[in-house]
Amino acid sequence: MTEGSETLKQLLDQAKQQQMFLEMFVRSWGDDYRLGGGTIHCGKGCSNCCRLAVHTGFAEALAIARQMGAEQAREVEAYALKLREMVQGVAELPHYLRLHRDNMGFCPLLNDDGACGVYPVRPLTCRSLISTRESAWCGADFSKIAPADRDAFLAGLDRKVVSFPSHYVAALQESGKELEEAGAQLMRSLLGFALYGNLGVLVHLCHNHDLAGAALQGRDGAVSAIREAGFDHPLLVNVS
Ligand code: SF4
Repeated sequence: MTEGSETLKQLLDQAKQQQMFLEMFVRSWGDDYRLGGGTIHCGKGCSNCCRLAVHTGFAEALAIARQMGAEQAREVEAYALKLREMVQGVAELPHYLRLHRDNMGFCPLLNDDGACGVYPVRPLTCRSLISTRESAWCGADFSKIAPADRDAFLAGLDRKVVSFPSHYVAALQESGKELEEAGAQLMRSLLGFALYGNLGVLVHLCHNHDLAGAALQGRDGAVSAIREAGFDHPLLVNVS
């Protein structure tokens, strides 16, 4: 095994272990919450959260790029190119998130039956988004909801567990973020920099533009591969 492939293996192994750890944490947290009378509304086919902009670390994107099929690769490419057009002239995160919700539709990795097409390797961001309210709220545009309905939603949230004012479980989101940061630290220690960005864009860059090979050449190699592919926008890919 070459030094480069050993480095990628370490990153991929860590990402896999982190996903397994979070999976167990989500399961045990959910069991405890249900025992205490709470309800978790997530399930197969309830995919409204798959309309949100998903951002992830490099290793998780690489794992998906390595196992997706040709049709998925085409969907991901179409998504990435559309998103690249959409962010032209966009500088603020809230603007980006709003445009994404209104224009990008579902994640390109979502199957027609509403199930995740890469479920075994779905990223920490997706695994950590656990809903304490009905699925419809996961895709809701709060600017279009009547004030009375919005107030009723907020009043009904379990403030002890959610990341207020959202209905997602705070402890699980925090755990996902900590694991992502640990992934970034390993990448920094192995390669000298960390890569984080939009899931579809990173998967596309790994699959179609050999981002992994470029990253093994160092920060400059990664930056120039991202630039040559036309995705050097801070809201799409972040090199730190
Ligand atoms: S990776 Fe899977 S779970 Fe995550 S947004 Fe895409 S389809 Fe949904």
